[in-house]
Amino acid sequence: MEKEMDKEAQIPGRGFNDLVRQTREKFSVFDLDGNNVALDFVNTVEYRDTPKAFEWITSYIDALGWAERVGILSPEAAEQLIARGYERDSSDWYRQIIDYRKILYQVFSSAVKQEKDKPAVLDDLNVILQAARMRAVIEVNKSGFSWRFPDVEEDPTGFLQPVVNSAANLLVDSDILRLKLCSSPECGWLFYDTSKNRSRRWCSMKGCGNRAKVNQFYRNHLMKN
Ligand SMILES: [Zn+2]
Repeated sequence: MEKEMDKEAQIPGRGFNDLVRQTREKFSVFDLDGNNVALDFVNTVEYRDTPKAFEWITSYIDALGWAERVGILSPEAAEQLIARGYERDSSDWYRQIIDYRKILYQVFSSAVKQEKDKPAVLDDLNVILQAARMRAVIEVNKSGFSWRFPDVEEDPTGFLQPVVNSAANLLVDSDILRLKLCSSPECGWLFYDTSKNRSRRWCSMKGCGNRAKVNQFYRNHLMKN
């Protein structure tokens, strides 16, 4: 009997498939309004520092669901890592992901406020950036050259390398005045304004209100299940 249970534990079964399905369903309604993958990452907290604060990434598995949604993990790689997170204690990986997000948010937040002082976490960002770029290679694609991060699925948090790299490119190579905080007082989302006149003020064309409704629906749905 014991042996049979062991065998069952090794094969991701129904529980695993449900987890994959629920994770995909959850992130199918996550809006990609940041115009940059690093901003979409920090936007996984909504209504930051308000009583309505909503955390999208509550586990390592959630982070993988998000990564698949934004296209930095293929469905196959996401499933492979979800299986790993499902079978093992992934709390350390989760903490690391949330730490990375905090670092990125603080640097962006300082940039958006046009603070002149060096952000306290810039050294931390440089450490994770160096680790990411050590593995990066340049490859040719249809529109020119791009960074590629090989074997992101080998390392449990390696899928964040393109996110860290995008953050660096945004800070160094883009028009920093286009990095903006949504004008809705509580929203807290950051976005890169690609409008012709640099006139965009809101995170979403539809307005944040619509997203708030979707989240409420999702939360009610979670409570019922
Ligand atoms: Zn907004």
